[in-house]
Amino acid sequence: MTEPVKIKMLIQAALDARAAAYAPYSCYTVGAALLTAEGEIYTGGNIENASYGASNCGERTAIFKAVSQGHRNFAAIAIAGGMEAESPTDYAYPCGICRQVMGEFAGADFKVIVAKSTEDYQVYALEELLPHGFGGDSIR
Ligand code: ZN
Repeated sequence: MTEPVKIKMLIQAALDARAAAYAPYSCYTVGAALLTAEGEIYTGGNIENASYGASNCGERTAIFKAVSQGHRNFAAIAIAGGMEAESPTDYAYPCGICRQVMGEFAGADFKVIVAKSTEDYQVYALEELLPHGFGGDSIR
């Protein structure tokens, strides 16, 4: 998943998904777009809660939507975040919990794309963001 056209399409989906984020407390909206191995895209936004610990990140919203629809193999996820109604000014890296959830389903080729725009982005292997991660192989 390194073709620029596909990456830009996935980033645009993440940017669009920010519009549906629910972030009345932080006003920091995140959009994520997850590409399945079959080529489908699932999007998600962060969903905050007055009880902050009940909040969910955009990345996990997208992943849980896809997993709940039966998908288990993913090619890449694009992430874009910034203050509500503003274009991203920095890369929005996934939090530790989201990296762990990605690790549950990510194959060796899974890519994490953090983007400010379709022209300004970085591509990482999950291994770079979650080295020596704890996974299913650790407990089998
Ligand atoms: Zn997260």
